[in-house]
Amino acid sequence: MTDAPRHIEVAIPLPVFHTYTYKIQKNRLTFAFAGKRVLVPFGRRRVTGYILGESDATDYPNIKNILDIPDERPLFPPSMVPFFRWIADYYMHPIGEVIKGALPGNLNQVDQVIFNKADKGEKDIVEASLSPLQKDILNVLESGPGTLKKLCRTLEKKIPVSLMYTMEKKGWINKNRVLTGGTAKPVMEAYVSLIRSDIPRDRFFHHRKKIIDVLALRGTTATSELKLMVPDAVGYIHYLKEKGYISVSKKRVYRDPLGSPIEPDTPPVLTNEQQHVVTEIISSMGKGFSAFLLAGVTGSGKTEVYLRVTAEAVNKGFTVLVLVPEIALISQTERRFRARFGECIAVLHSNLSSGERYDQWTRIEQKKVRIVIGARSAIFAPVENIGIIIVDEEHDASYKQEGGLRYNARDIAVVRAKLDNTIALLGSATPSIQSSYNVSVNKFVELKLKNRVNKRPLPEITVIDLGKHRDKRGIRRFFSPELYQAMKETLDRGEQVLLFLNRRGFAGFPVCTACGETLKCKNCDISLTLHKNANAYKCHFCGFSMASVSTCRSCGSSSIKNLGLGTEKVEEALKKLFPDTITARLDRDTTTRKGSVLKILKNLKNNSTDILVGTQMVTKGHDFPNITLVGIICADLSLNFPDFRACERTFQLLAQVAGRAGRGSVPGRVIMQTYNPNHYSILAAKEHDYSAFFNKEINFRKALNYPPFSRMIQLKISGKDKTQTKNHAHIIGKICGRLLKRHTHFSKSIDILGPIEAPLLKIANHYRWQILLKGKDTVRLHEFVHQLIFKNMPKKNQSGNVRVVVDVDPFFMM
Ligand code: ADP
Ligand code: ZN
Ligand code: ZN
Repeated sequence: MTDAPRHIEVAIPLPVFHTYTYKIQKNRLTFAFAGKRVLVPFGRRRVTGYILGESDATDYPNIKNILDIPDERPLFPPSMVPFFRWIADYYMHPIGEVIKGALPGNLNQVDQVIFNKADKGEKDIVEASLSPLQKDILNVLESGPGTLKKLCRTLEKKIPVSLMYTMEKKGWINKNRVLTGGTAKPVMEAYVSLIRSDIPRDRFFHHRKKIIDVLALRGTTATSELKLMVPDAVGYIHYLKEKGYISVSKKRVYRDPLGSPIEPDTPPVLTNEQQHVVTEIISSMGKGFSAFLLAGVTGSGKTEVYLRVTAEAVNKGFTVLVLVPEIALISQTERRFRARFGECIAVLHSNLSSGERYDQWTRIEQKKVRIVIGARSAIFAPVENIGIIIVDEEHDASYKQEGGLRYNARDIAVVRAKLDNTIALLGSATPSIQSSYNVSVNKFVELKLKNRVNKRPLPEITVIDLGKHRDKRGIRRFFSPELYQAMKETLDRGEQVLLFLNRRGFAGFPVCTACGETLKCKNCDISLTLHKNANAYKCHFCGFSMASVSTCRSCGSSSIKNLGLGTEKVEEALKKLFPDTITARLDRDTTTRKGSVLKILKNLKNNSTDILVGTQMVTKGHDFPNITLVGIICADLSLNFPDFRACERTFQLLAQVAGRAGRGSVPGRVIMQTYNPNHYSILAAKEHDYSAFFNKEINFRKALNYPPFSRMIQLKISGKDKTQTKNHAHIIGKICGRLLKRHTHFSKSIDILGPIEAPLLKIANHYRWQILLKGKDTVRLHEFVHQLIFKNMPKKNQSGNVRVVVDVDPFFMM
């Protein structure tokens, strides 16, 4: 063995597109695992990077030494390195930033450096020639350890980090890293059990006897339950424990957000359809990569399929990764996984504090859990040896991350499954066109659940043509007679009504009656929405808000008419139409305070709410058996967006909200009001006919060469100055054009659309332009954009105030 330093490859979380090689001394070699952070010199700075593995690029001159390896354990397994590389390459994003974004947030802040006075320090204060500042530092540390920040504050001075380094080197002080903050405490509950089964009962009377009897009958029981059965149970439990009859142990309990403990459940007997699907998936387990699309109507028992295949994977010694859409609350799916698998689950979603997230991350990395459930970002969970990756509601738009690394978790779930040689299972009642297309070209295997469990019927859907109700005036005008009648009947039977309108606020279209101008946001090119409860006009894009007594900005008139419809207006109308009912509203305005979603859903669950009005927040994953009528106030809101996925989204939204009806024993009904009763999205939703919708939509995509028949990459160009943004967009357009002409393999396969102004021209004071690159051949398209951004395109315009962002497979195209 030689003493020559080895080399490691490091990813730096800065806008740089390649990795770096550093030297590592032999005594540190045993710590230098892939997946750990590493402190390295970078230019004149020191930065924290991530070790990817050993480096073979060792022929550079001046390879620097690393400074430190702060982590005791890796933050992610080495098997994830190829995954990160793939993402960085595909989304054209710096790999260090990919990794940083994947790791729990605030890691570097959570990890604090604390300085202690070393033993040697005592002597040197007298003997050595210390600078006054060094003396002061040691004096402060005399009274206890502290961070650099604390030292600076106490001494009211700026202390250079290098000074601390020197003092550490001289052995006057020690440096320690401690994790601080945010570690959430689990909820623990005491459980009581009998120590022996042969306790003579006649020795006890009354309450003590009752406790012994209950324990003999039911086995281990929670103290909280005993308290319900026996007054003052705690005292008796204490007594019985002292006497050695019973034992008390603490267990971690999980509660659902609706407050009830999650009872362990017993797996039901699978239906034939379910059994078939489960068998097919299990037979592929452990045999390499495969991708399944589980297309099952709402209420067909998809979740039960997930549970069974998960159980099988865990039995075989695999881990399981489950992705669920981002919602305001714990999802139904997560709840049911908890009920089935209890302790061995880790969760990762945005409601967790960074400390909680870090805890979960650590449990996963240390292999203390076998199942990970979470929203979008859970696809980066540090699991190894995955048996299956499940993506629930795979069509959901929340899988696409906007901003930063613009990835789609559904898509990279399939990539991760491929790299890890395992199964991807995507499930939905309304699969994305992309995934169904993948079935038709044999990339995915389709599995179907055509019927609801227990032969429950799908709700009957009545379509009402709003065009024929134009003459209606006053508060009745957005309730057709059919909807009104159905609501009345439902409420009379003591059942609940869900009304869906995908727009919050009171009115989204304030117009000046004097000059005809619409009231627009001052920062965005978008009309404001009146929020009556808040007495304000608000912008839904930048948060701008102004008093509702405002006057027209162009003519000064104060006579403003609030056209358009929002959930607030619907709720207000309900109060007049059904004065004796209790209504509630679920949208982003009513759920800003912590706990508010909970309260709304709790009231719904215990029937203290009769009618719930809401935006798409109501469509997601809730299961309320007493809702037997769903009213869709206006089905068309998302239909006319200038976006090629508008029809797909509309169909999905309608089918999902309709699926909320009749989930209990009483069959459900849906009344769908629309101005486009003959549109294929509406008709297919009415008939619960996914394949009719798919066949129409796919032909339209094919004719226009839209995805899935092509791939898209969008360049989003934005800046504060109108002219400069426009100019830069045109410059980039020209560069694209030239690059395209220069290479025939590009010009043959790639289309450039634009530059054009974005449909939403101005948001938050930024003017927005876009260039859409479209091509049938993914590899070529990516090659083109790679060449464009790394070799040809200036990163910014000359004055540096126009930004270009690359969005691969864009979702939000406006
Ligand atoms: P989906 O996810 O397809 O909408 P769920 O998994 O929520 O459907 O199932 C709907 C309901 O049917 C749930 O209440 C679930 O507990 C129940 N269920 C699922 N599978 C079975 C089964 N095999 N036997 C009885 N009930 C079942
Ligand atoms: Zn006006
Ligand atoms: Zn705005």
